Formats: sequence, structure tokens, C-alpha cells
Amino acid sequence: MSEIHYVDGWPQPYAQLDAEPYWAALKKERLTYQHCNGCQLAVWPAHSYCPHCGADKAQLEWRESAGRGTVYSFSTVMRGPTKAWASIAPYTVGFIEMAEGYYLFSQINGRPGDMRIGQSVQVRYLQRGEQVLPVFDAAG
Ligand SMILES: [Zn+2]
Repeated sequence: MSEIHYVDGWPQPYAQLDAEPYWAALKKERLTYQHCNGCQLAVWPAHSYCPHCGADKAQLEWRESAGRGTVYSFSTVMRGPTKAWASIAPYTVGFIEMAEGYYLFSQINGRPGDMRIGQSVQVRYLQRGEQVLPVFDAAG
């Protein structure tokens, strides 16, 4: 276990080796995911092989997501666990079912009472400490 690294009070994500291209693309405000050329399915979180068909890493390629999806599940946090999180509470996090067929855990903007399963959302990028992160806003 490594210690959590904070910048400006925000915990910085731990980038696993397989996911390094994901974090690098986010710095350029591009949301990416892995696609398997063996079975044509999206692979997420990042892997060194395809968890659907077992294909090796040579079959996995990074693709850019359109950044659109629908809310699959969500939970609203009323009391932030640290000072930085408390400063934005209440906030909502949850799984987005992405148009490309994978599930991404993220922050979802919107008033808690207005949030609903199946709501269309669109990615936006936010700088938190050293890292650019994807967050989702309601889309028309
Ligand atoms: Zn596959």
C-alpha cells in the first residue's frame, strides 16, 4: 500500500500501470478506454488482457470515448470525508453506462432531487490538484 498523495487538499488518483494511457489522455481532456479487437467489446477498467475473451494485450487498443452515457447508479454524499470534499458537499458519485458499452465511476453534477437512473450525461473535465478528472453533467 502506498500513502494517498494530496494536492490542494484533493486526493490524487493512484494510476495503475495498465491505466497510464488513460491518465495521460485525461491531461489533454480526452476520455479513453480499451477496446478488444478479438471480441469487439469495450474493456474497463484497464487490463493487460481481455477479461471477456482472454485475448492478450496485443488485441487491446486505446480508443477515445464520445464522453456520453446514462446514469446507471448514483449515491449522494451529504458530508464530505475530508475538508476538500466537504467544501463541495452535497455531491453525487455513481456509475455511468457509457455509449461504448463500459461502466465508468465518476462524479455526476446536478441537484440530488433532480438525479435519476437513465438520465443522459456528458463528460466535462475538471482540474483537481495535479490531475484532470472527468465529471458528468446532465445532457439534453
Ligand atoms: Zn476480447
